[in-house]
Amino acid sequence: MKKQFAVIGLGRFGGSICREFAKMGYDVLAIDNDMEKVNEFATVATQAVQANATDEKVMKSLGIRNFNHVIVSIGEDIQASILTTLLLKESGVNKVWVKAQNDYHHKVLEKLGADRIIHPERDMALRVAQLISSEKIIDFIELSHEHSIVEIGVTDKLVNKTLTDLDVRARFGCNIVAIKRGDDILVSPIADVSLQYGDVLVVIGRNEDLNRFEDEGV
Ligand code: ADP
Repeated sequence: MKKQFAVIGLGRFGGSICREFAKMGYDVLAIDNDMEKVNEFATVATQAVQANATDEKVMKSLGIRNFNHVIVSIGEDIQASILTTLLLKESGVNKVWVKAQNDYHHKVLEKLGADRIIHPERDMALRVAQLISSEKIIDFIELSHEHSIVEIGVTDKLVNKTLTDLDVRARFGCNIVAIKRGDDILVSPIADVSLQYGDVLVVIGRNEDLNRFEDEGV
């Protein structure tokens, strides 16, 4: 069965999510209480509906509990965001992700059982700051507070070296899980693969080990 998503609140964030789902070919129900927004998304979403998300009856009639995943992106009106989250969790929606305005809002959402709380600007700012502060890291995924997967470009120092030469596991305690080479990805690369200009190493490990590798090994 096709995954079904609902987005409540079609401002900048909710609207962008809605567009992305539509591009990916998913069914998406778009809800906003502002008719202008609903009209704007009528051709983007599978269905766009004008509704007040805090109205339990209306939400029931939309069959909201049947959606796999609902994203609440009501910005300014924190009270409406909180009440909507409460109704969604009470009606048994499996995954409810909510955009938070501030720390107080975050705390309340957490108590209500929101499955993920997002601070789009803060989260993105952190990511950009981390990427800028580390010139060698191309991209990263945070696995936990202590562990990440990072992409590091092959520098002059590494060209023509093999993974055995680098000996990353013994020296830094991290693992090279893949090498990106053009459009190819060498998964679990063999030890005697020789690194080339343009290669990107995909490395998993503890953050402190990854930092050491970045500082001393690259
Ligand atoms: P952003 O910061 O992402 O642009 P906004 O605060 O501008 O977010 O957008 C929030 C959207 O949520 C608005 O389009 C607004 O009409 C909608 N909204 C606010 N309250 C409700 C509600 N109770 N039910 C449905 N939609 C709502």
